[in-house]
Amino acid sequence: MKAAVLKDIERIVVEDVPSREPAAGEVKLRVRACAVCGSDVRIFHFGNPRVKPPAIIGHEVAAEVIAVGDGVDEFRVGQRVALGADVPCGKCDWCQNGLGNNCAENYAIGYQFDGGFAEEMVLDPMVVQFGPVTPIPDSVSDEDAALAEPLACAINGLEMCRLGVGDTLCLIGAGPIGCMMIELGRHMGATEIIVVQRSPKRLELAKPFGADHYISTENTDVLEAVREITKGRGPDVVMTTCGSVEAHEQAIEMVANRGRVNLFGGLGKGARNLDIASNTIHYKECFVLGSHGSVPRQHKAAMALIEKGVVRVGHVITHRFALDEIEAALAAAEKHEGLKVVVTP
Ligand SMILES: [Zn+2]
Ligand SMILES: [Zn+2]
Repeated sequence: MKAAVLKDIERIVVEDVPSREPAAGEVKLRVRACAVCGSDVRIFHFGNPRVKPPAIIGHEVAAEVIAVGDGVDEFRVGQRVALGADVPCGKCDWCQNGLGNNCAENYAIGYQFDGGFAEEMVLDPMVVQFGPVTPIPDSVSDEDAALAEPLACAINGLEMCRLGVGDTLCLIGAGPIGCMMIELGRHMGATEIIVVQRSPKRLELAKPFGADHYISTENTDVLEAVREITKGRGPDVVMTTCGSVEAHEQAIEMVANRGRVNLFGGLGKGARNLDIASNTIHYKECFVLGSHGSVPRQHKAAMALIEKGVVRVGHVITHRFALDEIEAALAAAEKHEGLKVVVTP
């Protein structure tokens, strides 16, 4: 079978690798779609302590079951399934309490376990038993199903902020996750949604998702603009759906008293620390938190929201590539030309 093998930093080679049958407890998949995540681009450039080359990355996967090992009765040949990224170990305190994304071992598809930039995958018994492996409803396409993974992360992010009915939500960053969060945030009760984004071109791509206000930071004082929209009050919830430390600082500056700030976007290697007056947080009585990844419950919820058409994830897909074009796919995701990039092996 063909796979895109990450041999070293910035060296990914599409080649034939042995196809193997599933052992007891394992499930073998034929990959149908694997979307590119910002973290895949970071691993390609900088590596990751949990990815030991040669390795196969990619964790936003939709696939078909083509063989099951002895003792597997939850899945059957011919069934379509989508995968999430974080795999609970099933043993540690966090996993036993349903918080597998905080697992002490931190196992993930496309990290310790080979990922979806390949024609086939064999799921480890741990993934089969505890992992986010969600059946795909008949009405959901492979591409849409692959996006249940990032949508699950968006659900985790907004749940952590306790977004509720009547809240004003500000999203700093109009990438694929930001766009999904417009529809998800609305569904969770946000009545006023503000989207902030530097490039006017990317902001334009986010307009069909139906936020109430779009602000380009290029020639606008964002804090002033948000203050005006919220009549001096500030948004109840601010999400940084981009990897910028300035956005993290702006989020804390703009949030309402008693508001919630989620530093959702991870920062690249060597990013500086926050430069924020502690008294800003003190006097606002605001909550500053973070979130990363998701748990299997949220992956199932994401699939259900996709099935019901609540979040139209297909609308964020702008680029498609074959497995042979993996480098072009990573480059397209990195250049932020469009929104989501999907590889169809
Ligand atoms: Zn992802
Ligand atoms: Zn664990």
